[in-house]
Formats: sequence, structure tokens, C-alpha cells
Amino acid sequence: MENFKTNGNGNGINLPFLCWQCEMSAVNGCGAHGESIGVCGKEATKARLQDLITYGLRGLAAYREHARELIDENNTEDMKRLLEIDDVMGESLYFTLTNVNFNFDEHIKQLMKVGNAGVKVMDLLSDLHTKVLGLPLPVEVSQNKAEGKGILVSGHNLDMLEKLLKRIEERGLSDKINVYTHSEMLPAHGYPHLRKYKNLKGNIGKAWYDQTEVFSKWNGTIVVNTNCIVPPEKSSKVLNYIDRLYTYKIVGIEGAKKIENDNFDELIDHTLRLPDIEGFNSDEKIKTGHHYKTVIDVYGEKILKAINEGKLERVWVIAGCDAPGRKRDYFRELALAVPENHLIITSSCGKFRFNDVDFGYIPDTDIPRYIDLGQCNDSNGAVHIAFTVAKALGVDDVNKLPVSIALMWMEQKAIIILLALLSLGIKDIYIGPRAPQFLNDEIYNFLKETFNLKVISGDIYKDFGKELKVSV
Ligand code: SF4
Ligand code: SF4
Repeated sequence: MENFKTNGNGNGINLPFLCWQCEMSAVNGCGAHGESIGVCGKEATKARLQDLITYGLRGLAAYREHARELIDENNTEDMKRLLEIDDVMGESLYFTLTNVNFNFDEHIKQLMKVGNAGVKVMDLLSDLHTKVLGLPLPVEVSQNKAEGKGILVSGHNLDMLEKLLKRIEERGLSDKINVYTHSEMLPAHGYPHLRKYKNLKGNIGKAWYDQTEVFSKWNGTIVVNTNCIVPPEKSSKVLNYIDRLYTYKIVGIEGAKKIENDNFDELIDHTLRLPDIEGFNSDEKIKTGHHYKTVIDVYGEKILKAINEGKLERVWVIAGCDAPGRKRDYFRELALAVPENHLIITSSCGKFRFNDVDFGYIPDTDIPRYIDLGQCNDSNGAVHIAFTVAKALGVDDVNKLPVSIALMWMEQKAIIILLALLSLGIKDIYIGPRAPQFLNDEIYNFLKETFNLKVISGDIYKDFGKELKVSV
């Protein structure tokens, strides 16, 4: 296991922590010279736990914002759900104020409160998505094939996508402008109220970090409506698309145009002036649209029957954020090694590591072996499926189900998802490709002892040999 005790700051100095949030701070910040305790008495572990709380809150804030965009203010029940999340956000930020709390157990309690708010926000967002956009259905989507005038939309904001499609329709341009998804927009194709727009065509590219390559090749317009956007480099590739790049709401980048007040007309007019899309002629297909409510409705009974008949032996959750680097090849290797009578559930952009594979069906059933729950905020679906199955099978603890979990993390949405899972008592999760640098040994050991949380080793057989039915 890697050692968390110190963090290199790149200058050869190892820091147990760094805090400069108050006036009492040591010169250059408490911890800047290797101290493990601040002037106020805050120790490194508490400081790091407070960092963890704030990182979880950032992920929570993103989902909360999307829920806020979709909510009907006259719906008192939904507004009450939103307020419960807001309360935890406010209280948890207050908790991290200087000289408020120095108690380890209470830090953990607060962390679990943040995780619980994560469960609530994902449930709220999921309910709002299905209320506003309908219940997704499984769909096969064209990949890297485009024609005509095109707008490429990247990010998580389905509400923005619907508004854009609606405006194109209102202007009578649905047969002149096609709209394509990129990265976390892929699940949009499953929602009935989005797929009814025939000019919502297909998906282009993979996870967020291929933007420079894909966007520079795309000769239409582009909109990025949430993270993850890749900042422009001073390269000819980026310069070639920055004048065709639009951002939405909170997303911003130097040189790109901003869509203000949901007015898409400039984007639409710009798209009409550009030539037809060229260079995307692939015959590939990818699948999406397995929202957890759909899975429970359509496959619930079949899954239970397959488990009872011994046709379905194990469920794998292989999900999370993608990021550059070969270390995530582990997750593709793992998905490919999963035995054929095991089911793979995924979500988020990490699925682009293996969603080109046709996983087929569980033998002797019509249950697909690959289920894409949707965006990262749809990760709650795996828990809903697990709890539904446990209840139906009379299993008192969801951790007793034959489920293996391997999560990729990249940024703070993944942190709130992990905290949400931990707050529900989900154990035996593997995370990777490497441990978060803001943990230390004390926090990691606590998480290991309490939740059996582990960091992947890089060797799928070392981590999952038994579950993969390979002797190690
Ligand atoms: S809050 Fe404590 S650890 Fe942070 S800067 Fe102030 S004195 Fe230092
Ligand atoms: S899943 Fe994570 S890494 Fe991927 S686009 Fe969403 S926030 Fe970014």
C-alpha cells in the first residue's frame, strides 16, 4: 500500500498538510515547513478531513445546481428535498471554519452527513430527470458518424440540451442542423423527451479529455455545458476551434463565446454559416439508456430469476471518471475478464474505457451483460438496484450480495459519489487508479478498517482473482 504520510510539494519538501485559511497561519501556511499541527492546534488528519469535506461539497454543489435548474419551485416536496441538501452544505462549510471542531469522530460524522446529502441529491436529480425528460430506454447510438450542419454538446446538462433542441425546432431548422453528444452527454439518447427530436443524431468521441483532438477535427460548433472542459493550450489545434466553442452558465474559458440567458440563436446562426461536417464516417455503435428505474422495471424479475436459477452469479460495478493515462487500462482489462455469466453495471465517462465492446447477453437469458446507468450523477442507480435485489432475495445486508465494485476517480463529483456509498454502509469498494493524495495513513486506515476500502493494485487478478474465478 502506498504511504500517505507525506505529500511531496514538488520542491523536495514533504508536507503532512497545508492550511493558510486564517490570520494565525504560519508564514507560507501552517504545515508549509513540514509541521504536522497548525498554530490553532489543528492536526494534519483533521485538516485533511476538512479538505475531504470541502471536496465532497464541491461535487454535491454541482449536482445540486443541476437539480435546481430542473426543479419546479411550486413543488413543495421537491423544494423541501433541495433545502435538506442546502442545509448540509451550509453546516458542513461552517464545520470547516477555523477553531470550530477538533474532534476526529465528529469529523467522520460530518463526512457521512455530506455523503448522505450526496445520496439525496443524486436521488433528487434522478427523479427530476425522469420527471422532466421521461424514463430512459436502452438505445444503440451511432458513434463517430456525422453529417450536415452540426452542433456537438459536451457535459452533463441535459436541461440545456433540451432547450437547444427546442429552439432549433421553434426556428424550423430541425432538418438543417443536427445535434451530437460528446462524453457525459451520451446518456441523453435514452431519454424519450430528447430522443423525440430526430436531429439528435449520435455520439462523437469518448471521455472529456479527448476534446482537443475531437473538437479540432469537428468543423461545426461546440458547446461545453459543465465540467470537464479542457483549458485551451496555445496550440494550433485549439486555436482552430476556439472561435467555434461556446460555454454555458458556470463553464468558462478564455476566447470562447458564452451562451447568455438561454439564448441559443447566435450558436444556431453560427452553425448555419459553417460547412457540413466532414471526417466522421464510422459504422461503430454504442449502447446507453439503462436508467436504474428502467433496469428494475424491465429486467428486475428476470435478474432475480437468473440469480435463483444460477444463471447470473455476480454483478460488477465498474464505473467512475475517466482521465488520461494508461493506468485506467486496468478497468478495461477487468471488464473484459468478467466471466460471461456475470453482469457489468457502469456509469460516468469511465465507461468509454470499454463501451466499444459488445458484451452480449447473460447465457440462456435476454439480460444484457452490459448496463450503462448513465452519467456520474446516475451512480445512485447501482445502489437502488442492489437494495431492490437484496430485498427481493431476503438478504438483510446488501454487502452480502455477490457484487464487486471498482471505481475510477478523477475529481470531486467522484468524491461525493464515494462518500454517498460509504454513508450507505457499502463496503469492499476498490478505488483507483491511485489513492487520493489528500488522504493520509490515519484516514486511509480508518476507511480500510470501517469500510474495507482498498486502492487497486494495478493487477486485476491480485485484486479480484477469486471473483474472476482465476486461481491466484
Ligand atoms: S486554521 Fe489553524 S492550521 Fe489553518 S492557518 Fe489557521 S492556525 Fe493554521
Ligand atoms: S464523469 Fe467525472 S471526469 Fe467524466 S466528465 Fe463527468 S465529472 Fe468529468
